[in-house]
Amino acid sequence: MDNFDVIVVGGGLAGLSAAYTLGKAGIGVLVVERGDYSGAKNVTGGRLYLNPVRKLLPDIWEQAPLERFVAKECIVMMGEDSSTAIELTSRKFAQKPYHSYTILRAKFDQWLADKVMEAGGIIITKNRVDELIMDGTKVRGIIAGEDKIPANVVLAADGVMSLVAEKAGLHQRQKPLDYAVAIKEVIELSPQIIEQRFNLEPGEGTARMYAGAITHGMFGGGFLYTNLSSVSLGLVVRIKDLMEHKPSLEAPQLFEDFKQRPEIKGLIAGGETIEYSAHVIPEEGISGVSKLYGDGILVAGDAAGLALNTGITVRGMEFAIASGVFAAQAIITATKNKDFSAQSLSEYERLLKNSFVLKDMATFKNAPRFLDNPRLMGLYPQAVCDTLEKLMFIGEQPKSRLVGTAMSEMRKKLKLTQLLKDGYNAFRSM
Ligand SMILES: Cc1cc2nc3c(=O)[nH]c(=O)nc-3n(C[C@H](O)[C@H](O)[C@H](O)COP(=O)(O)OP(=O)(O)OC[C@H]3O[C@@H](n4cnc5c(N)ncnc54)[C@H](O)[C@@H]3O)c2cc1C
Repeated sequence: MDNFDVIVVGGGLAGLSAAYTLGKAGIGVLVVERGDYSGAKNVTGGRLYLNPVRKLLPDIWEQAPLERFVAKECIVMMGEDSSTAIELTSRKFAQKPYHSYTILRAKFDQWLADKVMEAGGIIITKNRVDELIMDGTKVRGIIAGEDKIPANVVLAADGVMSLVAEKAGLHQRQKPLDYAVAIKEVIELSPQIIEQRFNLEPGEGTARMYAGAITHGMFGGGFLYTNLSSVSLGLVVRIKDLMEHKPSLEAPQLFEDFKQRPEIKGLIAGGETIEYSAHVIPEEGISGVSKLYGDGILVAGDAAGLALNTGITVRGMEFAIASGVFAAQAIITATKNKDFSAQSLSEYERLLKNSFVLKDMATFKNAPRFLDNPRLMGLYPQAVCDTLEKLMFIGEQPKSRLVGTAMSEMRKKLKLTQLLKDGYNAFRSM
């Protein structure tokens, strides 16, 4: 095969954003994607926060297949047989330009792949990159099956378990502590039913996070996002916790149990599952970010560990898009200078450091440690539900004073020292 300027491994958000930017700049780019098409193997929750990336790909958002703008945010604390929801309905969130949208990757990534081809990029699907062409420590191209394809630069955008970054010596596979596994279904419902059930205006959407008894104290939680004519429902659990849990539990069964909860059952009733997926999520935060560049190679998106979970926001897609665009910008400069050395490509890291990507990851560097606390995933949601239940229940006997009831209920469940420690950790991490 001919020499390409750039080969992008992985046609997900990181890879396609890079390829689009390179194509628009007139740089010859080949995307190699192992799936049947872009979007076929890509999983997200998912909602995309648009503000951080709007200007990075300025000409695409008007026609992009976004689902609903998120006007309502809901956090649900799940007890064993009760739950407490906090819902934010915001006028600000319902005003243009909307700050976040739900998306379906099967649709969105295919559409972005078409934009890449319009911009002059070439995409080959159903091809897996197995090896890199190496010259000492320099990356010179890729090997996919029988094909050896040379290139000036390879961009590893092959997702969370990046083989390419590993082969280039830029990323080591992390421990089960650093990954979560997610099970997700897309469940079809009519737009009218969605709007009635979630109290939404046409076009409006909601994002719901669920934490507590559904993960049996393990790190993780559930999510529900409304799309135009479906909902995305999923459950995430950290792999290490799942491996060590006694008695042993399986993620698909936890997801089934979640679907049977009364808080969920009514919301998806009558819906048909049109997509089922399972995927790994990087949960290590900034300490899990790989080396980002080498001679002839860059790493972007999940492949580089660029994802951030703060407990109330889960972000990976804007990081993937932004890192893809910054990688492309660094390659454009390297092409002008005809220099694809590690030193030249280190421009990429500089761009990331100056952007929200590494700044936000640095700000929330302690978030993974803060969230690594079984009390957050079990005791606290249960305590909130039990206390409110006690306060709101009227029995046969005369009722005690409310504040006293609340205090004694909390004292039964929570130790002051733990509460102070967790409060201090929250203050340091968030
Ligand atoms: C359940 C779940 C919920 C999430 N929720 C959210 C959310 O609500 N908001 C948010 O912003 N983020 C969320 N994330 C994170 C977000 O989805 C990811 O950060 C994002 O998809 C990363 O994009 P990417 O392009 O880096 O990787 P991917 O989308 O994984 O793309 C990698 C691509 O590389 C291809 N590939 C892999 N290996 C090879 C190979 N050897 N050769 C060729 N091709 C290869 C794959 O087929 C794939 O298409 C969620 C993730 C999960 C799993």
